[in-house]
Amino acid sequence: MARKVLVMGEVRDSSLRNVSFEAIAAAKVMAEGGEVVGLLVGESVASLGSELIQYGADRVITVEDALLATYTSDGYSQAVLAVMEEESPEALVFGHTALGKDLSPRLASKLDTGLISDVTSLEEAGGNIVFTRPIYSGKAFEKKIVTDGLMFVTIRPNNVPALEKDAARTGDVSSLSVAIKDLRTIVRDVIRKATQGVDLSEAKVVIAGGRGVKSEDGFKPLQELADVLGGAVGASRGACDAEYCDYSLQIGQTGKVLTPDLYIACGISGAIQHLAGMSNSKVIVAINKDPEANIFKVADYGIVGDLFEVVPMLTEELKKLKV
Ligand code: FAD
Repeated sequence: MARKVLVMGEVRDSSLRNVSFEAIAAAKVMAEGGEVVGLLVGESVASLGSELIQYGADRVITVEDALLATYTSDGYSQAVLAVMEEESPEALVFGHTALGKDLSPRLASKLDTGLISDVTSLEEAGGNIVFTRPIYSGKAFEKKIVTDGLMFVTIRPNNVPALEKDAARTGDVSSLSVAIKDLRTIVRDVIRKATQGVDLSEAKVVIAGGRGVKSEDGFKPLQELADVLGGAVGASRGACDAEYCDYSLQIGQTGKVLTPDLYIACGISGAIQHLAGMSNSKVIVAINKDPEANIFKVADYGIVGDLFEVVPMLTEELKKLKV
């Protein structure tokens, strides 16, 4: 059944986040030949519309307002609901990001509809779109279909591959004027954590450090390895609790849930709460002094050794390969 699908594009630092393109790829499957409409909400986002089209959207709607310059659930939900009223889509796709996780349940409740969150794959099967999502902290997967009403999903970053960018693809980018009002939250300022480089949530390579890293300085060799591999540094809660790094780096049940192509766990024991955030990574490498460490049970490759010897060695060898 062909359907119209509305896809929320996410903008950070004036650029579209990769998950926006992955959401379009998911929307293409859900549309079953119908129309994929991109949505951009912000202060001045219209110039990014053409990129959504190049990644597969048929057209794009923008809602621009100075009050939407930074995300608030109040403001963004007003914008999305206004577009929903105008367009009456049959399906809605968001990234399973901080924004998507905050906004989608609120919208689902306002629209009096269900929500399939944290989708890692989807396919057409037997006349249905079947969505797969992890449950029990990634230890099992469930498959869901929508039998009636709005199809509303969030997709986990790094799981549904984006379509190839087609620079020749064109489509309409139009704006919808929405009177944003009665905001209960006003963001006065955004103070960034001092993290630089690759965004951890979307990184293809993650080098994660645990309590075995022993100090803030102990993260330096991990950052060097991440730089060589074009990856990002993450951490266990053990490392965050010990104040070796910021909580924004925490991976796990109460931190970020990631699915990179390569996850290198350094000095991490592999507690169940940590595995909940990384066990679905495509390739897992564990470096640990303790051959009995639980992390080796989920690792594809294990190195029993001192991370302060192994990590610099890896970095040097990888540098040679790059020359
Ligand atoms: P440890 O368990 O202390 O492991 C350190 C490891 O480093 C050891 O295996 C040791 O052999 C190794 N090591 C030491 N020195 C070296 C060296 N020089 N070279 C190589 N290896 C070395 N944890 C998370 O990570 N994420 C979460 O989201 C999370 N949520 C939680 C939620 C709840 C409700 C609870 C109760 C706990 C949660 N935890 C979470 C905590 C979790 O249970 C563990 O305590 C934590 O993951 C341990 O961190 P760690 O592996 O860094 O430290």
